Amino acid sequence: MNESLVKSRAFINGQWVKTDKRFRVDDPFSQELIVEVSDCGEKEAHAAIDAAHAAFQSWSKTTAQERSNKLLAWYDLIIKNLDDLAEILTTEQGKPLKEAKGEIQYGANYIKWFAEEALRVDGDIIPSPDGNQQIHVIKKPVGVVGIITPWNFPQAMIARKVAPALAAGCTVVIKPAAETPLSALAMAELAQQAGIPDGVINLVPTSEASVIGEALTSSFKVRKISFTGSTKVGKILMSQAAENVQRVTMELGGNAPFIVFEDADIDSAVDGIMASKFRNSGQTCVCANRVFIHESIYHEIVDKLVNKVEALQTGSGLEDDVSITPLINQAGIDKVKRLVQSAKDGGAKVLIGGELSDKHNQIFEPTIMTDVQFDMDIACEEIFGPVLSLIPFSSEESVVEQANATKAGLAAYVYTDDRHRIKRLSEQIESGMIGFNEGIISNHMAPFGGVKESGMGREGSKYGISDYLDIKYLCIN
Ligand code: ADP
Repeated sequence: MNESLVKSRAFINGQWVKTDKRFRVDDPFSQELIVEVSDCGEKEAHAAIDAAHAAFQSWSKTTAQERSNKLLAWYDLIIKNLDDLAEILTTEQGKPLKEAKGEIQYGANYIKWFAEEALRVDGDIIPSPDGNQQIHVIKKPVGVVGIITPWNFPQAMIARKVAPALAAGCTVVIKPAAETPLSALAMAELAQQAGIPDGVINLVPTSEASVIGEALTSSFKVRKISFTGSTKVGKILMSQAAENVQRVTMELGGNAPFIVFEDADIDSAVDGIMASKFRNSGQTCVCANRVFIHESIYHEIVDKLVNKVEALQTGSGLEDDVSITPLINQAGIDKVKRLVQSAKDGGAKVLIGGELSDKHNQIFEPTIMTDVQFDMDIACEEIFGPVLSLIPFSSEESVVEQANATKAGLAAYVYTDDRHRIKRLSEQIESGMIGFNEGIISNHMAPFGGVKESGMGREGSKYGISDYLDIKYLCIN
């Protein structure tokens, strides 16, 4: 591992700041300590907010071209260090190295994209009802942004927020997940090398998330909170952000339905299910949580899935050909075990897997469960583990109703060969994103985000920068 990218201190106003308290960051595979990291509290949070606020005064006045150039320099350094960043990511998070490399590239793509979008923050001139007036619309950066990210994509979730924020002229204070602060800190190091000025990016790792959350939401200097994580914590942050009327972008939990109709291309549907479900060992908010299969093709698909799942290798993310790696922590394991057990108690069957790996006590065997009912806990909560839960269905009407019977609405997947059905379901499925005949849908050019309790705001695409901009109307006589 490139030690110069393994940082263990907070990053505030361009300085690597040591704190008295530290917390452990462990490798989920070896379960050994990687490094102890500065444990920030209120004091460091406020220092970071002050630094971001001071830096905002100058960064927001730079030209879009200057900001774009800095973001592109950052992108270049990330690509140059891609292999090292991926190794750090796998070591702290566990995912297979190939996926970690994919994540670094995916995150970097947002940085390049928003470097380009920085140049396209256009205003408007609108005709006025009064002949003497002109209505001008300009866009201004919202100010300091508090960013809170989860452990499942420790690099990309940060890139996806920081890039549009900086492109718009905002400055940021980032609180990464305690399980995975090292990818974030390495990104800060490269941002500094790229010439992004002191104070524009600040990073406060902590073992006490709520302390930093409260500092960010209670400060009037912070004008926006951008959060990716659970719906439960999203609700807490939204209510806290209300006090200072901070804008919010919320990317919250999902409960993705994956529906395979009788007219689908079966092999492509099976590949789609495998890709959507087992990436990151099932620890993604867009992964297939409930797989609805038309009863006429149910057994055929189940047989094909069993063959594919049997071939999945478990082990360390650093080994070749391994695709199922440890879950992030014991709480993750406990949740998967509970959901599998309660589904079994309700009559569902385990066809394959269903247990912890006998090789490793934090790897859950890739699992297929059949005869799952749509209202069992396993189909109502995010599993966040490598468990396929299969539900047969008989009609389009009933499956749409069951797919929508959730408060979540992030991603959905539909496999069908019927273009009329695609048109109908585009309208009927309550979800921010739908993959038709596609199991992997996220990229920097598309708007990522959810409806209902899956959140608000969109990341990526031409829409992603607007969350970091205020509209200002000028009436000119
Ligand atoms: P997950 O279940 O994926 O860990 P969480 O919503 O618990 O999802 O965590 C996502 C991020 O939110 C992490 O960075 C975590 O530390 C942070 N977090 C958790 N609780 C709070 C809180 N009360 N205030 C601010 N951030 C929090």
